[in-house]
Amino acid sequence: MKTSSPDTSIADVLIVGAGPAGLALAIALAQAGIASTVLEQAPLASLADPPEDGRDIALTHRARHVLESLGLWQGLPAAEIAPLRQAQVVDGTSPWVLPFSAASEGHEALGWLVPNHHIRAACHALATRVPEIRLQGDACAVAFGRDRDSAWVETNGPQGPGTTRHRARLVVAADSRFSALRRLAGMGARMLDFGRTAIVCRMAHEREHEGVAHECFRYGNTLAMLPMAGRQSSAVLTVRSDEAPGWLSLGEQAFAARLADQFAHRLGGMKVAGRRHAYPLVATYAQRFADPRFALVGDAAVGMHPVTAHGYNFGLYGIERLAAALKASHATGRDLGDTAVLERWAAEHRRVTLPIYLGTNAIVRLFTDDRAPARLARGAVLRLASGIGPLKSAIARQLTGRSPLQRA
Ligand SMILES: Cc1cc2nc3c(=O)[nH]c(=O)nc-3n(C[C@H](O)[C@H](O)[C@H](O)COP(=O)(O)OP(=O)(O)OC[C@H]3O[C@@H](n4cnc5c(N)ncnc54)[C@H](O)[C@@H]3O)c2cc1C
Repeated sequence: MKTSSPDTSIADVLIVGAGPAGLALAIALAQAGIASTVLEQAPLASLADPPEDGRDIALTHRARHVLESLGLWQGLPAAEIAPLRQAQVVDGTSPWVLPFSAASEGHEALGWLVPNHHIRAACHALATRVPEIRLQGDACAVAFGRDRDSAWVETNGPQGPGTTRHRARLVVAADSRFSALRRLAGMGARMLDFGRTAIVCRMAHEREHEGVAHECFRYGNTLAMLPMAGRQSSAVLTVRSDEAPGWLSLGEQAFAARLADQFAHRLGGMKVAGRRHAYPLVATYAQRFADPRFALVGDAAVGMHPVTAHGYNFGLYGIERLAAALKASHATGRDLGDTAVLERWAAEHRRVTLPIYLGTNAIVRLFTDDRAPARLARGAVLRLASGIGPLKSAIARQLTGRSPLQRA
């Protein structure tokens, strides 16, 4: 029989999911003087030392600024942060490239590449040192409800059916793009399954990458090579999902040889330097980001296709603004679950993210379409972006997180 422990106190904020978004929000709230409890389904030990997951996160200038102000950037191992000095986009079999350079935008770097497990470890290390944050592992959210004064979440522990109820003025879902809490709270989401899988793997190579990121929209698949520290790159190979098992079952040498071939040997010979990980690509956009006493952050709000590298960046922008809104409520003694405050924040986050979400999905659709008319359109789009200076600058500003769409 399912038993619930009695409701005891009402916390300020309850965050479900101790991923990089949930923990960054808890830290931002603590800086604003707001205490939070973070519930995570995984055991706490796995958060302290998260395994390498093959995701290497390209961070914009604005995201770096948010991480710095939270004290998280300082916790990343400096030797693992790689500047992205240039980006080149290649289409089909054409030798022509669409270049972007940090120098021509007046920056040292377009952005920085950081392995996701280091971000997760830095978030956990800082969160455990902040007295306003209570972190609880082995707590999987399975039910949600709310009344006039509070909202609640029930969690299952590792022992099974025993259920604990946690109450707060505000509950925030940060439990991934497939958020169970979003569904339990009655919030819908658009989901776009691309039928593609991203195979990610750290590769060592003979030649220097010189800080250049490559996005190669080939016919049949897409290969991004993102420069990491040293003579290594993060390879992101996007293939039809029915072809993914074949790529994953290749021996290391055969896999490296095929990637080097796909990349026209620009970096010389390659060797596998990490585990291969596969991510089926499904983009998600929640129908609403806020409801009474409830909000969504990180991928639970917006789960992006990785091609424009915006997922965690968007997460951080939303967290920065939500923490600022709640700080203002807290300072004036207003209820943290106030719907009007949450809805204003949600409208702003939608304004920032929706155009890029839709634009990214349109890019993916066009550049994974190999039919003749699409091939013509692909080349034309890239040449247009190259030929119109302001358009190219706007794309570069978007890459760096300095777009006017995203008022800093
Ligand atoms: C291949 C790839 C490349 C990417 N590259 C980039 C990039 O270059 N730039 C960029 O900005 N972004 C990138 N992203 C996106 C980025 O990884 C995500 O945006 C980010 O990790 C999302 O963090 P999150 O905390 O919202 O979710 P997650 O990292 O998914 O964390 C969710 C947490 O919630 C927990 N949880 C889930 N369900 C429950 C439950 N019911 N109860 C309790 N806990 C629960 C999970 O265990 C997990 O710890 C990439 C993603 C992929 C797949």
